[in-house]
Amino acid sequence: MSHVIHRSLAKVPLVAVGGKGVQLFDKAGKAYIDASGGAAVSCLGHAQPDVMAAMHRQIDQLAYAHTSFFTTEVQEELADHLVAHAPAGMTDVYFVSGGSEAVEAALKMARQYFVEIGQPERTHFVARRQSYHGNTLGALAVGGNEWRRKQFAPILMDVGRVAPAYEYRDRRADESQQAYTARLLAEIDAKFQELGTDKVIAFVAEPVVGATLGAIAAPAGYWTGLRALCDRYGILLIADEVMCGMGRTGSLHAVEQEGISPDLMTIAKGLGGGYQPIGAVLAQGRIVEAMRKGSGLFQHGHTYIGHPMAAAAALAVQKVIQRDQLMPQVLARGAYLQKQLHARFDTNPHVGDIRGRGLFWGVELVQDKDSKAPFDAALKLHAQIKAQAMANGVLCYPMGGTIDGKHGDHILLAPPFIISESELDQVVERLGDAIDTVLARNGA
Ligand code: PLP
Repeated sequence: MSHVIHRSLAKVPLVAVGGKGVQLFDKAGKAYIDASGGAAVSCLGHAQPDVMAAMHRQIDQLAYAHTSFFTTEVQEELADHLVAHAPAGMTDVYFVSGGSEAVEAALKMARQYFVEIGQPERTHFVARRQSYHGNTLGALAVGGNEWRRKQFAPILMDVGRVAPAYEYRDRRADESQQAYTARLLAEIDAKFQELGTDKVIAFVAEPVVGATLGAIAAPAGYWTGLRALCDRYGILLIADEVMCGMGRTGSLHAVEQEGISPDLMTIAKGLGGGYQPIGAVLAQGRIVEAMRKGSGLFQHGHTYIGHPMAAAAALAVQKVIQRDQLMPQVLARGAYLQKQLHARFDTNPHVGDIRGRGLFWGVELVQDKDSKAPFDAALKLHAQIKAQAMANGVLCYPMGGTIDGKHGDHILLAPPFIISESELDQVVERLGDAIDTVLARNGA
């Protein structure tokens, strides 16, 4: 009998007791290749010796000091490291304990910025359908994942909503990619006009969508167009890189591949690689300067911001990524995974789309490849595949639910950056077997 309120109240999950490299072990002694890094978290895998050593050193020195009294050397060093590798103009960092907290802090910082510079009439956020920005009330409000929002909708702030950048499903057959991008941007422009271009605080989006759709990047030109649109109206651009950031897509930040710099950027998961809970907001200098010159205080805060243990773990993770030059490795292994996924699934009549960047890949299942008709939502194929993959000894991250009236069964892969080609072969083989088994079981 467990007294923990588990994610699923229906059953107590297996007990994890250990981890080493890309593997996790349960209490019964079964090993799993952690091909989703939990939820795109464990970028260095498990029990990385340099990270563990740094954490031991930190706990011997200082575990906690409240930030209203002190800063710590480790927090300062981590901020220096992040700023040194940040997109252009991002000079300041605010530390929190996870992704949702980072999004909350970014939303409040954006609002406070406009109050400080004398534009308090800016009160609206605009975000996309089929996005996920976290589970706290502010983050849930900007998120566009209907099943997560449904029962809380009456108590969420009103957010302007536009289409996702979901080319596989939403680009018309007779439409060029350029025309599709232009259509998406025109809709955002129209939404800004509808709400009042001087009433909007910020546009919030994930450069590569993770937790709702599985590794979907926007079409070419979308982010540069978005940057230009926001600049035209003085609206802030918030890039939520909680899942796709910190090297997951093959560059430290996914926006680097789009050639733009956001005003605020949220990071989390891969920042601490799962060794400690940590997230952060990176901000353009002018935003922090406005608060410094204005009220002199960011009106926000949590007990554990800048936690020394979390900062020590994150700093060690980031130093290993740099020392071991893992970004080229993510690109190379990502290209290998892409090739193997296509080799295994291109002939499968129910694998509609394979997409991703770096070591961030999504596989979308459909009943029919031509019409892209999804499977019956009640089957919960994605959940069945997760369970079968686990039985086969591989962890993948399933996503489903009805969004925009369309059901989706998506499987996300986000393995540790250190995964080898032969381990990737095993991932594809075990996942492939799980998908075949589940499709056969459901008569497909
Ligand atoms: N933002 C994005 C893009 C995410 O993918 C997630 C989590 O999956 C969050 C925010 C919320 O992060 P957390 O679960 O750490 O609160």
